[in-house]
Amino acid sequence: MKQPRSADRWVVEAPAIPQASPALRLGELLVRAGHATQEQVNQALELQPLLHKRLGEILVEKRWSTPRAIAEALAEQCGLEFVDLTQVAVDPRATGLLQEGFAIGHQAVPVRFLDDNNVQVAVADPTNLNTTDELRLALGVNCTLAVAAADALASTIQRNYRLTIAVTDQAPELDDVIDESMADGALDLVNDLIGRAVNAGASDIHLNPQPRDVMVRFRVDGVLRDQAPIDKRLQNAAAARVKVMAQLDIAEKRMPQDGSFVVYIGGNAVDVRAAILPTKHGEQVVLRVLQRETKLELPQLGMSPEMENVFMRAIEQPHGAVISCGPTGSGKTTTLYAALDRLNDGLRAIATIEDPVEYQLPGVMQTEVHAKINLTFSRGLRTILRADPEVILVGEIRDEETAKIAIQAAMTGHLVLTTLHTNDAASAIARMRTLGVDPDLLAGSINCIVSQRLARRICMHCREAYEPSQEQQMSMNLISTGSTLTLYRAAGCLQCGNTGYSGRVALYELMPVHGLGRVLLDGSTDEIFEAAVAAGMRTLRDDGVRQSLAGVTTLEEVRRITGDRRLLA
Ligand SMILES: [Zn+2]
Repeated sequence: MKQPRSADRWVVEAPAIPQASPALRLGELLVRAGHATQEQVNQALELQPLLHKRLGEILVEKRWSTPRAIAEALAEQCGLEFVDLTQVAVDPRATGLLQEGFAIGHQAVPVRFLDDNNVQVAVADPTNLNTTDELRLALGVNCTLAVAAADALASTIQRNYRLTIAVTDQAPELDDVIDESMADGALDLVNDLIGRAVNAGASDIHLNPQPRDVMVRFRVDGVLRDQAPIDKRLQNAAAARVKVMAQLDIAEKRMPQDGSFVVYIGGNAVDVRAAILPTKHGEQVVLRVLQRETKLELPQLGMSPEMENVFMRAIEQPHGAVISCGPTGSGKTTTLYAALDRLNDGLRAIATIEDPVEYQLPGVMQTEVHAKINLTFSRGLRTILRADPEVILVGEIRDEETAKIAIQAAMTGHLVLTTLHTNDAASAIARMRTLGVDPDLLAGSINCIVSQRLARRICMHCREAYEPSQEQQMSMNLISTGSTLTLYRAAGCLQCGNTGYSGRVALYELMPVHGLGRVLLDGSTDEIFEAAVAAGMRTLRDDGVRQSLAGVTTLEEVRRITGDRRLLA
């Protein structure tokens, strides 16, 4: 894709490209230096095709080796110098040669001038030929690669480059604009957009081509917010850049495409899912941003203490299924990760099959669904079961085969955590029956079903207290306790960008399945719901009212995102 540039400053000598030796050699070096055992290297090599990761990455993730040991071995393998970035100060004149978008995107940092026309550049992975190639062009001088530990490199980049980047408005002259000459601007633009989106806590970025410019919107707390538009002249280059990053067909402009890639921001890996859709005014780009390093623990999920007790009992069973349901973007996967994090005490074997891997959990064997090689949920699940782990996370059940294997596993000594794309807990039973699971097995195999939604959290700086009217109390099933009730309404201030809300809070509905009896076999969804409520289930809306009374969100927000089956009866 990248053509040789015509300008003189691009004509630089290529650095010697290190030979990528077989992975086994890296393993041998690590074993010889005592930084990993042969057993660990063998296991990591076996996991490689499943995890799509480098040997070193797996060894570090499993805590079998350290980033420094991997870097030293890589340096020896490639005949390059190892640079200890915790000891060496980098030369700002050298780092200044590389734009921060590039440094962050490629995890490369210029360390020092070896002579006037040669800069030593530290990278974590010297065998990545793409980086080497692009580095040469980006620097404009010769470079000599060195290897640094991935963690030290990330924090050096964080210290030396800052993430305050304005969208470039200095587009080159219109006449000499061709996609190629815009490539660098687009690289920075895309990295900068992702950086800004992550800083703003956005979950996705939308680039919508308009006749005169490209509209940019971030989704924050589930609501789209306008950003400064991008120059129309960067439109094609930005789409092309995303395609390159996501390994899509750059020439295809009429069919929708989707893919994914990873960028590093402030040393943290950010997974980006890209979707490209042709529209009348050009290609629309939607980037979904997933920060991997987010640390989760159950208390943060904000369940009521009674509900958390029931949930904890359900996930601490040695077997059975725990099903989390809700629409896309309701945080159902997050809940299961939080559960996994609790269970991940090093005593149990945990394996996952996901699409995609949204959070990295140390010590957990995580596998990603891969359509191109026919690695589906059901096939991945079968493979996992051969290793007989105690806990299995199945990212989503959406087909009959996966449903049946998952329930079978739950009944044969495994704890299975999974999600179903249904509106509420009661509908999950009907869905499992539709997916061909024997209704007789449901009561015995499902520990509990959690349904959830994300409500916007009221802004604490500007919320206004009020007393709900009789009518409002009736409409939300608020039971008057005699004393006056206080609720809050969203106002709007500078802190919350005048929306009245800031951040989000999860609302839950937790349905224990044991004890619901015959209704599970042939009852309608409404009948299952009634039985669960009669057995004491608090509905999503009840939980919303609880959070409204706690001053965390508003009745309006709860009404917006939850329905009430009782009102339909
Ligand atoms: Zn506010």
